Amino acid sequence: MDAKIEIENLRKELSEHNYNYYVRDNATISDYDFDIKLKKLQELEEKYPEYFDPYSPTQRVGGAITKNFKTVTHEYRMYSLDNSYSKEDLQDWETRVKKLVDGDIEYTCELKYDGASISLTYEQGKLVKAVTRGDGFQGDDVTENIKTIKSVPLKLRGDYPDKFDIRGEIVLPFDGFNKMNQERLKQGEEPYKNPRNTASGSLKLQDSAEVSKRPLECLLYSLIGTNLGVNTQFNSLEKARSWGFKVPVVSKLVNSIDAVLEFVNYWDKERHNLPYETDGVVIKVNNLQQQEELGYTAKAPRWAMAYKFKAEQVSTQLQSITYQVGRTGAITPVANLEPVALAGTIVKRASVHNADQIEKLDIRVNDTVFVEKGGEIIPKITGVDLDKRPNQSMPTEYISTCPECNTELVREEGDAKHYCPNNLGCTPQVAGRIQHYISRKAMDIEGLGGETVLLLVKEGLISDYSDLYTLTKAQVIPLERMAEKSADNLIKGISESVKIPFERVLYALGIRYVGETVAKKLAKHYKSIDAIIDATEEDLVNVDEIGIKIAQSVKMFFNEEKHIQTINRLKSYGVQLAISAEQLEGQTNKLEGDTIVVSGVFYKVTRNELKKMIENNGGKVSSSISSKTSYIVAGDKMGPSKKEKAEKLGVQLITELEFLDKLS
Ligand code: AMP
Ligand code: ZN
Repeated sequence: MDAKIEIENLRKELSEHNYNYYVRDNATISDYDFDIKLKKLQELEEKYPEYFDPYSPTQRVGGAITKNFKTVTHEYRMYSLDNSYSKEDLQDWETRVKKLVDGDIEYTCELKYDGASISLTYEQGKLVKAVTRGDGFQGDDVTENIKTIKSVPLKLRGDYPDKFDIRGEIVLPFDGFNKMNQERLKQGEEPYKNPRNTASGSLKLQDSAEVSKRPLECLLYSLIGTNLGVNTQFNSLEKARSWGFKVPVVSKLVNSIDAVLEFVNYWDKERHNLPYETDGVVIKVNNLQQQEELGYTAKAPRWAMAYKFKAEQVSTQLQSITYQVGRTGAITPVANLEPVALAGTIVKRASVHNADQIEKLDIRVNDTVFVEKGGEIIPKITGVDLDKRPNQSMPTEYISTCPECNTELVREEGDAKHYCPNNLGCTPQVAGRIQHYISRKAMDIEGLGGETVLLLVKEGLISDYSDLYTLTKAQVIPLERMAEKSADNLIKGISESVKIPFERVLYALGIRYVGETVAKKLAKHYKSIDAIIDATEEDLVNVDEIGIKIAQSVKMFFNEEKHIQTINRLKSYGVQLAISAEQLEGQTNKLEGDTIVVSGVFYKVTRNELKKMIENNGGKVSSSISSKTSYIVAGDKMGPSKKEKAEKLGVQLITELEFLDKLS
């Protein structure tokens, strides 16, 4: 047979099997036969590279490495959903809806899948782009990773429109999640905490081959675009399904809030039999014309409402309370529990926040406690089952000395937490500061991880981050699990970190209350560490968005002689402690004093570039329109509610070109 035809036939056949297995949950070939055919296709494609096709089923195994995900502006913003928790909430919503639109209202009820949202773009029936939600306006381009998820069609079937976006949720079904964790435990690694975070973390893996191994699924719920040939939400779900998307069939069309509640009550129980996590129901006005009339608030569509299931609760025994010491010396109590199944995962630990919380709930070791899991990763203890309290039980006595270094703990007026004041001698604090310094958003030192830092501290090789720069290969090689190559990488990673720009170094220093954003602000304003050190508290407070708490903390940090010494050492190793000439270039104060809102889609520059330009020229970017807004740079598809607000407040709109003119 002609190789080209054979390749095409295999691609068709394998796509069909993929579709049957992953979208329709109906296997039409054994795994073994599938693998044989896939191997055959791989061989042929290798032999005949001229027939390469990025949409071939062989592309699902991944292999592409993405170091930095490209930021992409969503053509249509990805909104949140408003939440409701009771029948009354839903009735209020219906009243609001009925005020704004005429005629009868039907509702589509869908499950709210708990994973990571994704927006897929299809053109001419082919997947061209997959972008995370990000901040709703812009997300990360994760196409290479998404292509490895077998329920995402690379090519569509049926009569699909030329171009459209479709939105859905990437979820990790329990089965696959549990298997992944069994593997991790076997390798001696910490298990993943929950399916949702693991799903969203998977989207950002740099190696798509790694993503391909994860049993992720993509469940779709919304079609976006123009001329799609649909006029109701329910119909668009059916259409999407017919084009090859995995659209759960449990969705239901109803015509009253009572019927919505019936759906909610049914699924509140039945969801425990679903293969993946759900955290509520999403109710949408069915008619798309009515949806358009209803429009959006600043953050959510007026035509949809989420109904959150109540957090799940179980009871289990509290075995012990242990105490962790953080990088700032803050003590966090951790409740260790008799392992118990909760919301699809096995829970062994819960947070109890602080001493007050323990006292308030009167939590004691050996108590039977109620554990609840809402949206947060770590479940929390919400109460004690007093009927089950053992007779001889005694109230919990909170520790008074540090579990790591035995120093007496302190607790300041008005502070809920206890602290270990032994900053310089308490291992988790010493290591924690260095771990923060090397972390991804700070110095991002490749080849050096948190565990190694702890080892280095325990071995007495380093005691603050400036010590990193004097480490030698000979010193690190004797460490546990350190090979020649990893030692080289470590030293190289450290020496390369001197290129990291000043704003990130400032963040890496670990000054209390100086997070990424504040560090950026300070770096931009003062341009060098020396200027910050010289600034008085009043100077600091005068910087936009720097409050008294931050100002005091900055002053306190630099008042310590030890910190100044460390900084001088960093300087001597070549770490960036001022804005480089390169960064300074192109900066003006043409827009000084202006507060500017950017809205819509742009053509000459991206939204991010626009924002950068505003900041580089001394202006301030704001996300919401108010009477303080100087003007709005308005692109295409600026939301109608924003337009309305601008008009009402009399804020001027200028075009992208007019804005660029201002700067030229
Ligand atoms: P929230 O993040 O709580 O505001 O909820 C909004 C998110 O719910 C959206 O970004 C979607 O990713 C997610 N979601 C899950 N299932 C659905 C659904 N059936 N319809 C709409 N959104 C959904
Ligand atoms: Zn301590």
